[in-house]
Amino acid sequence: MTLRDREWLDDALAAFDLLYFEGALAEVPVRIVWHTYRPAVTYTCGDYLEGRIRINRRLSSLVVPDYVVLGTVYHECLHAVVGMDHDISFELAEGRYVHRTKAALWEAYHLDAVMRPGGPPCNTPP
Ligand SMILES: [Zn+2]
Repeated sequence: MTLRDREWLDDALAAFDLLYFEGALAEVPVRIVWHTYRPAVTYTCGDYLEGRIRINRRLSSLVVPDYVVLGTVYHECLHAVVGMDHDISFELAEGRYVHRTKAALWEAYHLDAVMRPGGPPCNTPP
């Protein structure tokens, strides 16, 4: 069992910088952390602000496939490099993530159960 710790996120960021962003993430630079959202924003998967990506700790649960967590990481990386608007160029760039369709399907069926209070345990230290 792999703990989805800070290092797991750092490895994902480094891999995406190599695979999709040609080093642009390191130039910003971007850092990434797990974050515990207040209940009112519990359904937020992640966010980006001023060089920092936050990923919802609920997604560290091992019931969430890697490709779903990584899809959120990729989305927030795009905000760091492309910008904050979800416009057509953003959506086109988002389509480059190879598991995008599969991740969106999984989220449509299972994300509510993961995000709701009393959902499955997280797999990263608070
Ligand atoms: Zn977004």
